[in-house]
Amino acid sequence: MEMTTYNTKTFWPSFELDMSAAKTSVAIYSPFVSVRRLERLTPILRSLAERQTLVCVFLQSLQSRSGKEVIEERRNLVEKLRSLKVHVNSIPRMHEKVAILDDTILWEGSLNILSQNDSSERMRRIVDLEEVIKAKQEMVVCSICRKLIDRRLASNVESLLRQLVAMRRKTKLTQRDLAQLCELSQARISQIERGATNVTLETYCNLAEQLTCRLLLVPTNTAPFVVRVIEENPSGEG
Ligand SMILES: [Zn+2]
Repeated sequence: MEMTTYNTKTFWPSFELDMSAAKTSVAIYSPFVSVRRLERLTPILRSLAERQTLVCVFLQSLQSRSGKEVIEERRNLVEKLRSLKVHVNSIPRMHEKVAILDDTILWEGSLNILSQNDSSERMRRIVDLEEVIKAKQEMVVCSICRKLIDRRLASNVESLLRQLVAMRRKTKLTQRDLAQLCELSQARISQIERGATNVTLETYCNLAEQLTCRLLLVPTNTAPFVVRVIEENPSGEG
């Protein structure tokens, strides 16, 4: 494990360098956010957005007794972050000061990354997969990422079901035929095709098998090419 401790002065150059170099993701847990600090970080956030690096930010929810001005300032800052394509989460009582970069570098300590001004702080930079995994398990998950994943999953399931129906029709089988082949009821096949029921992996593999198909795991970035090949050559001939 590689671990280095930084003070306020040494933290910023190193952290900004890490942030600028992030390729896939940046998660920042900072209870507070300030105009001044956000302004300083804006160029980096902008370049991350341009490079489509995912940035998720976690702030402490404002207290219910917060004044009008505080609420107004927070709203503007959140808007600013969103305009930089940042996922903004408000978490009640969150007080950790943590950053996780590319799922490989963990920064943690006492410094509020989105609001620190002139306070003295200590931060540790840890490069260790196990430590990163442990930290990720303990920290809140981004609700916007979660929703996007759920939506992707739902559309994935939908497209699988569409393919299933299309393959059945192509092979000129009725629901009843397919039911017989799979030793299921016709009603169950109908439910499955409508997405009205959960299907075990075994059942799905069996259905695919009867339709002379195979279930494959395809990397996300390869999927469009695979779909195109299937559409251009639906019967698998040639
Ligand atoms: Zn996110």
